[in-house]
Amino acid sequence: MKVLGTVKDVRAASRELRRGGTLGLVPTMGALHEGHVSLVRAAKDRCDAVAVSIFVNPAQFGPNEDLAKYPRTMEQDLRLLEAEGVDLVFAPTPEEIYPSGKPTTFVEVAGIGERLDGASRPGHFRGVTTVVSKLFHAVEPDMAFFGQKDAAQVAVLQAMVRDLDFGLEMVVCPTVREADGLALSSRNRYLSAEERARALVLWRALQAGQDAAARGCDGSCISSQMRAVLEAEPGVRVDYAEAVDARTLLPVEDVHSGALLAVAAWVGATRLIDNLVLPAVSR
Ligand code: AMP
Repeated sequence: MKVLGTVKDVRAASRELRRGGTLGLVPTMGALHEGHVSLVRAAKDRCDAVAVSIFVNPAQFGPNEDLAKYPRTMEQDLRLLEAEGVDLVFAPTPEEIYPSGKPTTFVEVAGIGERLDGASRPGHFRGVTTVVSKLFHAVEPDMAFFGQKDAAQVAVLQAMVRDLDFGLEMVVCPTVREADGLALSSRNRYLSAEERARALVLWRALQAGQDAAARGCDGSCISSQMRAVLEAEPGVRVDYAEAVDARTLLPVEDVHSGALLAVAAWVGATRLIDNLVLPAVSR
């Protein structure tokens, strides 16, 4: 497994890998867990070679967010990726990605990029789309693998790939959960034991939303039921609880043709997100 830190080196190495077949890219911020591993395995299944990027991207963190304390576990991550049979790891420094300190050219998806997390974390998706564009240019993958866990990010990146004609296939992999339903996240390690127990409320809220939909509730009614479940949990502050169109992230009322139920909440000082896809039902 090659571990490289510069765009120049990674471009040369990935061109070499693509000579032998297709190349998949799994972009991550490290602190790897089974959710990331599921993406790597999907990439191994679908592609001849797999590259993983590890970069805690300053441009997607707001001024009061957790950039400085975001978990960094590089040695452990590299051991895990080696064991998974990854071919190439791109682990650049912030200076390599942003030589002038911060980005001066941005990729921004208007509209979709300002909804859900884009509304509560202004500039977040602009940071994501900018860095993912740079990663796509450096690695030039045939396929890129992302988690359904970050459903709004998926919608934003799919719009970017479509709008800017990145010639690659986006593959979205299911959310990996703990046995009790909590979605795996690098940020779960911030939670105390008590907060970890309270964090399950996100999954409970989504299930309440799904039950409400099965009873015939419309989008606003589903949203308020999910919000009520979140608000009933002590120590939890709701950011959003919405039924939206999975592509546009705009609120939907009629959920018969499918909807994305998405929630975000602070559990103590930790902001967590989760979602569930309601399938289309025939009437
Ligand atoms: P991150 O390192 O948090 O930026 O995540 C890197 C990739 O892993 C993103 O595409 C995430 O959506 C995906 N991911 C994170 N958590 C999970 C999970 N629990 N299940 C599946 N994919 C995940």
